[in-house]
Order: sequence, then structure tokens, then C-alpha cells
Amino acid sequence: MFCKRCGGTGWIYLENGVERCPECFSSVARKELLRFSGIPKRFLECKFSNYYPQTPRQLRAKTECLRFFLRYPVVDKGLLLFGPPGTGKTHLAVAILKNIIVHKGLRGTFKEFRSFLIDLKGMLSYESEVDVFKTIANADFLVIDDVGSERETDWGREKFVNLIMHRYNQKLPTVITTGLSFYAEEGVSFPEFSESKLNQESTNV
Ligand SMILES: [Zn+2]
Repeated sequence: MFCKRCGGTGWIYLENGVERCPECFSSVARKELLRFSGIPKRFLECKFSNYYPQTPRQLRAKTECLRFFLRYPVVDKGLLLFGPPGTGKTHLAVAILKNIIVHKGLRGTFKEFRSFLIDLKGMLSYESEVDVFKTIANADFLVIDDVGSERETDWGREKFVNLIMHRYNQKLPTVITTGLSFYAEEGVSFPEFSESKLNQESTNV
């Protein structure tokens, strides 16, 4: 018996993207996905509607994030949100994540980068380290928050690059928030990401 609303595909086609069929995907399932997404309590109320841009650049970033969510999963690049503390990068990343879970019904995960490294380090065997890595690396959709908040060690950087490359190869989109400009400070670029800058207008154009 096919669902009349979506024809059994599970998706409703909108003018600017797709959405999970509300008949086939229950609100209980949505709540479960949210509960296990790993979004920290202090960010749980972050939405697009309560993000108030202070600069044209922040407004542009909000628009880009909204567009990313609407198009998802039809996106070919991840999103890198770059800006100093207090510009709302994590707020926007969580807004994307929550909307993707609620409207698209996908398993989305939030992970602070430093805590990801701590989890890996805490594992007693190589096998359990690989398990922890894979759980994060294979999430349908992943937000990695605050990359480079402390200078990463070579080991930490290697884990970061492995994570990004794994997801890129598996075509699993990722949103990264960072205060580091990878282009300017690290001398490396990630062509698989669109970069959105939230910093002040006068610098780093
Ligand atoms: Zn349906």
C-alpha cells in the first residue's frame, strides 16, 4: 500500500527542495533523532528565526545556511562557517542540523571537535578507537563544532583530515564551524566546502 501523499518515496517535493513525508515519518521518530543528535543543552533553542544578523556578512551567512538546509540532501559541498567567537557560527550550524532532522528525517549528529579527539584518546584499543571514529564519520549529516579552538596537534589534524576525506568520499555532507581561516592561516584549502565568513566587514574580504 503506497502512501497517497508521497507515493511511497517518503519525500515531498517542494519548490526549493525536498522534505520528509509527514504521513510516513512520525513526530515520535523526529523527537528520537533530536534526542540522540548530541546537540548540547545550551544550543538546543538555536533556530534560524532567533538568529539576528548584526552585519551584512552575517545576514549573507544566514541566507546561505537556510539555502543549504532547503536543498539538502541535494548538495555537492559541505559548509565551512568561519568567524571569531560570538558571531553565531554554532547557532547557525545547529539551526541547519535541527531543521535537517525535523524536516528531512535524517540522522544528524553534532560533535564538538575537541570532545571528538578526547573520545578517541580515551579508547583503550585500536579497534574501539576505530569504532568511535566510524560512528561520527558515518553520520548521515554531521556538524563539527569549533575546529582549531586550541592549536591542534599533528595527531589532531590528521584525525580531522581523515574525517573530512572519509565523509567527502562517502558523499556525506558536513558543516564545520571554526575560528581558523584554513585558507589564510593554514595554507590549505578544502575545495569540497563552501566557505561562509561571519567576521566583521573590514577584515579578511
Ligand atoms: Zn508518505
